[in-house]
Amino acid sequence: MTNAPAASANCLFCKIVAGDVPADVVASSERVLAFRDIDPKAPLHVLVVPKAHHGDVSVLAAADPSLLAEVVATADEVATELADGQYRLIFNSGPRAGQSVFHVHGHVVGGARLGWTPA
Ligand code: C5P
Repeated sequence: MTNAPAASANCLFCKIVAGDVPADVVASSERVLAFRDIDPKAPLHVLVVPKAHHGDVSVLAAADPSLLAEVVATADEVATELADGQYRLIFNSGPRAGQSVFHVHGHVVGGARLGWTPA
């Protein structure tokens, strides 16, 4: 197992993980945190993050695949507990894809019939 990267000083989600910025936390384990998106785009819209800092999903997949699996498992648990277990899990990767916070996070969206208009 790789050593966990240190928190990044200016990273918003590292600050949420540390409790320095408030968030509506819905699940927390040793290595993963889930909290409601501050600007929800669906009835269920939760962000699932590794507590360790990794910039995007490809970095996380290369550095710690088991942690990525924990993120996905947490997404499934949250969608089952807070909605009907049917959901979309989105990792925006890069600014052109819409990533604005560079600490990997899966958007768990659901709670309604979802459209399909990513472009
Ligand atoms: O994929 P992207 O990087 O754009 O997603 C960042 C998400 O973080 C946004 O959906 C935004 O609403 C959310 N956010 C949040 N709490 C904050 C700041 C941003 O939930 N304090």
